[in-house]
Amino acid sequence: MLLFKKTAALQAYLQQIKTSHQQIGFVPTMGALHKGHLALLKTAIQDSDITICSIFVNPTQFNEPSDLEAYPRTPGKDIEQLEKVGCDILFMPTVEEVYPPETKTQVSINFQGLDEVMEGKFRPGHFQGVAQVVKRLLDLTKADKLFMGQKDYQQTCIIGHMLDTLALPTQLIVCPTLRETDGLALSSRNVRLSPNGRAIAPQLYQCLKTVKEHLATHPIEEAVQAGKEILAAHPIELEYLEVAHPKTLQAIQDREQQAVICLAAWIDGVRLIDNVLLD
Ligand code: AMP
Repeated sequence: MLLFKKTAALQAYLQQIKTSHQQIGFVPTMGALHKGHLALLKTAIQDSDITICSIFVNPTQFNEPSDLEAYPRTPGKDIEQLEKVGCDILFMPTVEEVYPPETKTQVSINFQGLDEVMEGKFRPGHFQGVAQVVKRLLDLTKADKLFMGQKDYQQTCIIGHMLDTLALPTQLIVCPTLRETDGLALSSRNVRLSPNGRAIAPQLYQCLKTVKEHLATHPIEEAVQAGKEILAAHPIELEYLEVAHPKTLQAIQDREQQAVICLAAWIDGVRLIDNVLLD
């Protein structure tokens, strides 16, 4: 695996790849890699000629400095795992490389309200930061395919909207959420849970499954209430639990054919998100 820390070196190398018409697959991450990331990478490796993974803890998407500081960083272990899975290129830039003062990197597009609901309500500016870093990384990698996890469902909607609006020549491929055997969605933040927190964290998925099951026979409000009751039995602080349209992300009032159920909750001072799709 080739490791690049400088944008100029990465771009010079990719120039050769582009002239040989090889398809570039790209998996952006913030590191502290787990099996969920590796599943994305395996799909990317299968679907692309050259696979690039980036590890960059993007400061512009954190709204709490303490959260940015506490974000787990395990570069040595990450490199080992990427080598093992067969990743071709790792891009691990510094903040200065990604955001040089002379380069305009802000993305100013109208997200049609996708950025105002759920995560957008609780993490102001978060999606501006996500769009900014993904756009910048796509400019640098010139990826043909971008692989992202359903785990961050709202993020995939934001990035899909950005690709469409800016008519970028990159295809977004959304991969399913990988879970522990007890249902907890894999997340870099899980390592920050205490043993007690870890023991109750699968309740988030139980809550989502309960809402999903209830929606088959109950009004939305009752289904959501049933989900909330699951969490209320534990020291879990729910931020939101929404049944939303899978494309517009607006809360739906009537039971429809398609919906996504999303939540964010705090356990032990760790903020976790999860979602399930209703088909
Ligand atoms: P992160 O490092 O948390 O920014 O995540 C990098 C990418 O991995 C994003 O596209 C995430 O949606 C994806 N991802 C994170 N957790 C999982 C998971 N449990 N299953 C599948 N993809 C995931």
